[in-house]
Amino acid sequence: MNHVPVMTREVVHYLVYEKTRLVLDGTVGCGGHARAILEAGPHVGIIGVDRDVRALRVAERSLAPYGSRVRLVEGSYTELPTITGESGKLDGVLLDFGVSSLQLGDSSRGFSYLLDGSLDMRMSGMGPTAAELIGRASEMDIAAVLKNYGEVRGASRIARSIKQASASNRLVSTSDLKRAIEAAIGGKSAPALLSKVFQAIRIALNGELDNIRVFLDSILKYLNPGARLVFVSYHSLEDRMIKEFFKREGSGCICPPRTPVCVCGHAASLEILTRRVVKPAETEVNENPRARSARLRAARVIPRGNVE
Ligand code: SAH
Repeated sequence: MNHVPVMTREVVHYLVYEKTRLVLDGTVGCGGHARAILEAGPHVGIIGVDRDVRALRVAERSLAPYGSRVRLVEGSYTELPTITGESGKLDGVLLDFGVSSLQLGDSSRGFSYLLDGSLDMRMSGMGPTAAELIGRASEMDIAAVLKNYGEVRGASRIARSIKQASASNRLVSTSDLKRAIEAAIGGKSAPALLSKVFQAIRIALNGELDNIRVFLDSILKYLNPGARLVFVSYHSLEDRMIKEFFKREGSGCICPPRTPVCVCGHAASLEILTRRVVKPAETEVNENPRARSARLRAARVIPRGNVE
């Protein structure tokens, strides 16, 4: 299934500027955004990273015309020292979270409740599958995942039903998970609930929020002055992490509110380019349902000498 990149015009607008030479596309997926970035700046080179080797194969094909301007790396965007290696500092970073249509549309990956397939959900294909993780987790842990990552109502009841199915070896496929959810709510479940439960389990299994935290903790030292950061989130917790990071790095003093004299000595390192979160245009949402929940935020590294 073809992946249509989300908010491409906005991504390029905030990411590419006259001094852009090297961009890290940390979630290169099928290379949709990467291609648009390469087209926008003839001098731009891209390091494209993905933990999904199947996505990388697609990106390799679609980005082949750009030759040595593209370097693809299999791994997590958290592995910054290995990724950047000898390449020097970056002028731009893009992270487009969530799953690609390639992943969603492949029943053998188990990401979608719409397709019957094994309950896998691993982005990298390594480590335990969703079914194995549920097998090892306690009912309470599962309920916490559903509550925290999915804001699922009736999380405890659903977690109990999922755990019961797993304990009696009836949790092997996506349809099994769907059945367990329906058994808990006593009827056919709404797509919104299924989608929330599947997304919550996927986020937990792949450590998606932890990865964002690790990345944000160290990215600044890999950036040139003036470098742009662009994030596209699909989940309120992802967006909140980005918002808080921008707020912290965009502020001078970060002392607690009632501190009489600044003791933190913190200097702003980022200028926020999106005062409010940017949402996709209605026309895009109509054409590409994956864009519906997308939220974009961008910032730039304050060039030295301008630091307040
Ligand atoms: N922007 C891409 C689509 C990205 S979809 C395009 O235009 O085609 C999100 C991608 O992020 C998926 O391919 C997924 O495998 C990847 N991903 C998720 N977590 C990752 C991580 N920690 N490191 C690298 N890639 C990751």
